[in-house]
Amino acid sequence: MIAEIGLLISLQETDTEIKRCKSEVDSLPSRRDAIEQNFAASVQEFLLVKNELDEATAERRQLEEDVAAEQAKHEKFKSDLMKATNEKQYTTAVREVDATKKTISTLETEILKLMEKIEKLETQVNARSPEIEAKRAEVDKQIAEMTASVKADGEKLTTLIAERATMIGQLSPGTRSTYERVARLKSGLALAEARDYSCTACRISIRPQAFNNIRRGEQIYECENCGRILFFKAGATAS
Ligand SMILES: [Zn+2]
Repeated sequence: MIAEIGLLISLQETDTEIKRCKSEVDSLPSRRDAIEQNFAASVQEFLLVKNELDEATAERRQLEEDVAAEQAKHEKFKSDLMKATNEKQYTTAVREVDATKKTISTLETEILKLMEKIEKLETQVNARSPEIEAKRAEVDKQIAEMTASVKADGEKLTTLIAERATMIGQLSPGTRSTYERVARLKSGLALAEARDYSCTACRISIRPQAFNNIRRGEQIYECENCGRILFFKAGATAS
């Protein structure tokens, strides 16, 4: 019986560790999401500026394409002007040459304004980039460490489950069903230490005769109040 109470103590320790490992494994996605969300919130302002820069850069690229297209038209109308054989063709070509020239000039003014804007935005982005990159690296490191630790817990879990099965197999059927029943009712903690003539879990007093039995470890004794299996730790009390 002394061996059996010892086995129960080991079993409870194993079950507590199994519970911890499972909770670590299960909570990994939500813990990772929380870190990512925290990072996203901290760089939100930076990303808005970065986004504005990307948009301005794309807009500039578009305007440059527009200028090139307008330039081609301009060249065509200039050539039409040379080839004009009557007044009407000549007037039309002159009007179009002027119109395309104006459009090109307007587009180029827009591009210049955009270039100033891009320069300002680039300064802002470049100023904050190292800090953001450092933050990202820190987040990546944190996630990698967490994932590695969870992987270790996952492997440990496999071992613990096998160990648990062995321990359960060594218990007498009665003790085993008592343990499983109380563990289910008490969130996995079926055992409580008996110390100074009371149950350390629910604080109720234990009669001296029962306490002495528990101390001797001669039988599985359940607390009259909370139902936990009581055990005595040698050297834990002066009585
Ligand atoms: Zn109790």
